[in-house]
Amino acid sequence: MEKIVIVGGGAGGLILANSLDPKKFDITVIDKSPITIFQPAYLYIAFKGAHANITKPIRSILKKGRKFIEEEVIKIDLEERKVYTKNNSYSYDKLVIATGTITDTSKMKGLKEINDQFGDYHTNIENAQKVWKSLNNFKGGSLIIGMSSPICKCPPSPLEGAFLAEEFINKKGLKNKSKITFFTPYPRAYPSEPINEVIEPLLKSRNINIMTFFDLDYIDTEKKTIYSIEGDEISYDLPIIIPPCVGVNIEYNPSNVLDEDRFIKADKYTMQINGFDDAYAIGDATNIATAKSGVTAHLEAKVLANRLNGIDDKFNGRTNCPFDVGYGKGTFVIGSYTQPVVKYPPTRIKHMMKKVMQLIYWQSLKGTFDFAFDIFFKMTDPEKLNKKYK
Ligand SMILES: Cc1cc2nc3c(=O)[nH]c(=O)nc-3n(C[C@H](O)[C@H](O)[C@H](O)COP(=O)(O)OP(=O)(O)OC[C@H]3O[C@@H](n4cnc5c(N)ncnc54)[C@H](O)[C@@H]3O)c2cc1C
Repeated sequence: MEKIVIVGGGAGGLILANSLDPKKFDITVIDKSPITIFQPAYLYIAFKGAHANITKPIRSILKKGRKFIEEEVIKIDLEERKVYTKNNSYSYDKLVIATGTITDTSKMKGLKEINDQFGDYHTNIENAQKVWKSLNNFKGGSLIIGMSSPICKCPPSPLEGAFLAEEFINKKGLKNKSKITFFTPYPRAYPSEPINEVIEPLLKSRNINIMTFFDLDYIDTEKKTIYSIEGDEISYDLPIIIPPCVGVNIEYNPSNVLDEDRFIKADKYTMQINGFDDAYAIGDATNIATAKSGVTAHLEAKVLANRLNGIDDKFNGRTNCPFDVGYGKGTFVIGSYTQPVVKYPPTRIKHMMKKVMQLIYWQSLKGTFDFAFDIFFKMTDPEKLNKKYK
């Protein structure tokens, strides 16, 4: 029986493990943690003070016939076909890497200090709770939401933070005592132009100041000022900054399968790691030029399950990222390798759909709602929607 080792029991790794037939494959998932986290909820912990339980034991999500090993992988030798943890090594016939990303505050001076003090909504539950505390302590002044790097999980999430922060400040009656600024290294508020045409007017209508071409250089915590490489500066009272997102710390042989941010170089259609026909990478861990999102991890896992079953399936770069614009409304960022992002207007129903995802998330990792996803992805096909929303 073919031995498949999946490193990482998050969205991508679990969907793949549950999509493969244990009668055909010997399937093992290795994760350093016993639990998996519903990360989109960081947003609601940070900006709405949500208390929902957003973790589940990995074992409880894995269907029967799949093995789970709780150990941290420290080295992967693709030449020798071996995965090393501190005390053990595991061989494989096929390897899938689904290790996601980590945030790295060491890249810019001052970033660690302000993240430790005020929190962020991309690193972990504790940091998201810190944002909620910081917002509640805010009495007015300059509130900054910013992207310290162009690469981050869930491309809409930085702006979702800005929208939800504005809603919070407004409802607290602090709007006329505050200035909210969103900064981004991109040339526009949302990098992709069609959806930016929907989002930018909304930001302006809510008096959220936008600073584009702002590549974070360093933060002077004494002067409470953030400086960009381009020579701009913003002073802050409450800075909530998304740290750079990088690949996890695993040593690889050969090391050139990683790019400079430690993302794994993989084929954008087959997810095969460059130079190896028995190793793949899916989800946030790859350098594939599409959104780092749970939906991407899900779709890549499904394509890879087909490929491992001998079906010549290809990932089409499809994205479908929910976008909360505050006040109970939302939209989606929908596109693919061949279709530009749809200019999709926000509605209450689209926001409800994002909320429903939270309710069905754990079951969706088991494949329970595959039929509903198939219908949803067909209904929201970007080619069809692009004809409707020009
Ligand atoms: C604020 C926010 C909002 C988001 N909103 C959405 C959304 O609305 N829709 C959406 O689709 N996506 C959203 N996402 C993104 C989504 O959560 C991720 O893209 C998704 O979880 C990626 O899945 P993955 O399997 O690639 O990685 P992960 O789910 O992060 O899993 C990686 C796993 O690898 C394990 N691991 C890491 N290193 C090692 C090691 N050395 N040894 C063993 N195990 C290891 C980790 O413990 C983890 O379990 C959001 C993310 C954030 C932060």
